Amino acid sequence: MSRARWVVGNWKMNGSFAANASLLAEVVGLPRDGANVGVCVPFVYLAQARQILADSRVALGAQDVSAQTAPGAFTGEISASMLADAGVAQVIVGHSERRQYHGETDALVAAKAAAALAAGLVPIVCVGETLAERDAGQAFEVVGRQVGAVVAALGESVSQVLLAYEPVWAIGTGRTASPEQAQEVHASIRAALGAAGATVPILYGGSVKAANASSIFSMPDVDGGLIGGASLVAADFAAIVAAL
Ligand code: PEP
Repeated sequence: MSRARWVVGNWKMNGSFAANASLLAEVVGLPRDGANVGVCVPFVYLAQARQILADSRVALGAQDVSAQTAPGAFTGEISASMLADAGVAQVIVGHSERRQYHGETDALVAAKAAAALAAGLVPIVCVGETLAERDAGQAFEVVGRQVGAVVAALGESVSQVLLAYEPVWAIGTGRTASPEQAQEVHASIRAALGAAGATVPILYGGSVKAANASSIFSMPDVDGGLIGGASLVAADFAAIVAAL
């Protein structure tokens, strides 16, 4: 069975109403057959993006979600059902910046993925090793542990997620994994997903630019990209989608 191919933008903590309007005006026309496109915007811009993307095939995404499923006293949290209510289709969970700056554990990330699925959202589960872990020869072990936590929590439902391999040393650094480095980790993730590995799209993230996208996307187990910095520049994002 063929796997869906995606380019998803992660705006991180960037944007303004004015800048978003001109960026999204360019993004609306990017999806085509064989190239799905999503944008994960800051919470406060979801309503604006929903309106601009309404008649397009671009998937609206958020960048994080609470693991809490029942409403209640969780100040500052936003639940998966609220995101669904806001028209969100997909949500990033376990981005390395959340793991690093907010102490998110494998168990919490898995719980967030479960909460997203329960509300009908597609979680984009991010995994990836740090430079120290790669230098210590632990890349496969670390990524295997992170994927394993999600598989254990979701069971067969893991077939409904998108995976993103984002080596921490490549995010926002200008340093990209080589196509071969990405491919070998993607193949190991696919194996760790068991039967779901045949259909779950696995995206690569980490300093993807127009210039390197084609070579990375051409690898057999790479099904697209999760794009940070380059998703903020319409021409760069369009070129990356074109490379898919
Ligand atoms: C990301 O934050 O998901 C990412 C891949 O960032 P960048 O493309 O800027 O490295």
